[in-house]
Amino acid sequence: MNPPGEPRRWTPTPLIGGAAAVHAGALAALAVAPAAWPWAAGGVIASHLALTAAGLWPRSSLLGHNWTALPEAARARIAITIDDGPDPDVTPRVLDLLDAHQARATFFCIGERAREHPRIVEAIVARGHTVENHSQRHRHHFSLMGPGALRREIDAAQATIGAIAGARPLFFRAPAGLRNPFLEPVLCGLGLHLASWTRRGFDTRTSDASLVARRLLKGFAAGDILLVHDGHAARDAHGAPVVLAALDMVLRAAANRGLETVTLRDAVLGY
Ligand SMILES: [Zn+2]
Repeated sequence: MNPPGEPRRWTPTPLIGGAAAVHAGALAALAVAPAAWPWAAGGVIASHLALTAAGLWPRSSLLGHNWTALPEAARARIAITIDDGPDPDVTPRVLDLLDAHQARATFFCIGERAREHPRIVEAIVARGHTVENHSQRHRHHFSLMGPGALRREIDAAQATIGAIAGARPLFFRAPAGLRNPFLEPVLCGLGLHLASWTRRGFDTRTSDASLVARRLLKGFAAGDILLVHDGHAARDAHGAPVVLAALDMVLRAAANRGLETVTLRDAVLGY
């Protein structure tokens, strides 16, 4: 593996290589036998459907390497990953909760939010956590962007977050986990590693913290990467962000099992 943060060579996955071969084969078939066009078109459409399906499945590795759990060496621990912040109300309370449990977390911040709340990003780092890249604007059509737009979106967040946090991100998480085949070459060029999760609590949509915690703890095991949110956080009937109570339950369960928390940087890259 190249040193963390260094650009690396992109090699297509079998699915992407296969799709490219189908396209080349379709063109060759049309050149020698134009009447074969329905077969050629069918092959091309099928390969596009396969690529799209792979991109809609956040935990798949069909479009490129994807960290969905910690590597073997870090398997006595778990990673808490916290997306969509920083948020001026929720993030400081999440930081206090993490301190109370002596836990460390990985914050996938949105570049524009980091620029609006730089002091909160600095507090995240000062309290022993790490800040990674969750795109500059968290656009809903992120997975429909072409290579140039993807690169600009991710590179802008690298610059914004790197300048505020004092270190350029080493991991990227796609908005909503949705991707397309152009993403992995862009990540390789920027020296970023894609990270998704083992399980998530849907804490942006569920107003019941116990339900969120149950989803995160169902089948919970060492090596898990858990996903919660400090931005876009759902609120319970009393107006409290559900992530606070849910994360508290998860960290208690982890402590009961003797599982310590670790940042993705420490677990995957060893520093
Ligand atoms: Zn997000």
